[in-house]
Amino acid sequence: MEVLTNVLNKVSEIVYKVAIYIRLSKEDEKDDKEKDSESVTNQRNILLKFVKDNGYELVDIYIDDGFTGTNFDRPEFKRMIKDIELGKINMVITKDLSRLGRDYITTGEYVEKWFPKHNVRYISLLDGVDTMLDTTNNEIAPFKAIINDMYSRDNSKKIKAALKSKQQEGKWVGGCAPFGYKVNPNDKNHLVINEEEAPIVRKIFSLALEGKSKNQIINQLFNEKIPTPTQIRNVNRTFKYSELGYWNTTTIRSILSNELYTGDMVQNRRSRISYKVRNIVPNDKSEWIIVPNTHEPIISRKDFQEVQRIAKVNTGLRYEKKIRGVFDGLIYCGECKSRMALQGGNGGHCHGHYYTICNTYRKYSKLKLCTSHSYNFEKLENKIIEQLKEIFKDYIDESETTNNLIKNKDKLNDTNDLSSNLKKIEKSLETKKRNLDKMYIDKLEGNIEEEQYNRIKNKLNDEIRELEDKKNSIIESIYDNDLSNDNEKCIALVKEFLNMEEPSREIAVRLIKRIELHQDKTIDIYFNFKKLNILSDS
Ligand SMILES: [Zn+2]
Repeated sequence: MEVLTNVLNKVSEIVYKVAIYIRLSKEDEKDDKEKDSESVTNQRNILLKFVKDNGYELVDIYIDDGFTGTNFDRPEFKRMIKDIELGKINMVITKDLSRLGRDYITTGEYVEKWFPKHNVRYISLLDGVDTMLDTTNNEIAPFKAIINDMYSRDNSKKIKAALKSKQQEGKWVGGCAPFGYKVNPNDKNHLVINEEEAPIVRKIFSLALEGKSKNQIINQLFNEKIPTPTQIRNVNRTFKYSELGYWNTTTIRSILSNELYTGDMVQNRRSRISYKVRNIVPNDKSEWIIVPNTHEPIISRKDFQEVQRIAKVNTGLRYEKKIRGVFDGLIYCGECKSRMALQGGNGGHCHGHYYTICNTYRKYSKLKLCTSHSYNFEKLENKIIEQLKEIFKDYIDESETTNNLIKNKDKLNDTNDLSSNLKKIEKSLETKKRNLDKMYIDKLEGNIEEEQYNRIKNKLNDEIRELEDKKNSIIESIYDNDLSNDNEKCIALVKEFLNMEEPSREIAVRLIKRIELHQDKTIDIYFNFKKLNILSDS
């Protein structure tokens, strides 16, 4: 360092206005050995001494404490850049190159292009880099930057590998426990039930099991003044306004879909794109690390599965805003098995009526892949209700006398056809998802424009959603949902349905798996209870 100081003294008489830049990241703190040498105080002392020894004018000290060097998204760094642009500074000093950044491309950009372009002299003290001097150390700079970059990459790999192996052992590594649980005070990798929060989780599930929609659940929680996770935990962080005092659909959805509540450890659901980018992306389900029975369940597996099934019927109601009928979301095309859409309403020639239309037909009418399946929605609902009443009455009569008949008309003798079809769909789903991933990387690397990316992404997502609909309906056709032969429950629900003046959607969703409408206007009704699986042709 002494040699360097001597050399520096020989440089011309420009008045240097100095910015000291200090960065400390969490990674640095982890290593006790490095802790001391990298600490803010230590960096500041070294740099201040250097400025004083050389008689430079100190303008400001910029400290990013707790920021990683893998990107330049740091508040104080940005403030310094601004001050340079305002002409307040013409010299930047850091303890070593890695303090400036651990990403060698961008770090190099700053050292080799941006600083010189703005007439800023940059000195990295311990590496002996000085952009005003033609020393051999400058040639070392890019090399040093690469080493720093490698250090980060290596570090992030190591951290990831360590986390992964813990996850595979079923150990909780997420820090803050999911709502309903707390971290075991004797073992930070183990979850135990949080007695204050678990009843709320149970309540949300039981409301969902009754067939209530997310909004209905939210209303009830609000009316009963049930506190949100944020309120209960009173976390001292900055939250989005909406998250503070109100239950919202995102919270409800994430609770209802979290398998962790069944006692299985589910981790690795999201990951960072790379160690350089902060964006977090959801992982494909195949990458989730699930270890069964690692902690006490809050919800039984059976109830959890039932909630997932109901949620599937309730979501994707594309016409939800217009109409929410009793059987909306349950009606499928009898021929191509895609979900029925509704059209009509106030616009057009429909005089306020809604009509069903096969989604395949609607989208590809010119290709003649399917037929319209147009049916007045109101009439269809009445017809379904009539048919249900008949079936239910028979069912009650029969179940009260002897074992009821299960006239399970086998509509699915061509299961082979279905499963080969399923394979095709799965393959094409996979390709589309892979393309999405590739595009995302392309966007990050700047190979395609944001607008172009969004356009293609939306198109791909539409196609994926459609394929998934198809896939689900095929799976449901192949495997009969044996949600159960719970006869008593079934009879109770059927009686409830029969006794109601207005049929309720909640009960319909629990009893009925799907309704298929054929072009000749006949209907098949599939039930969730095996004993009820009587198909009707009338
Ligand atoms: Zn169709």
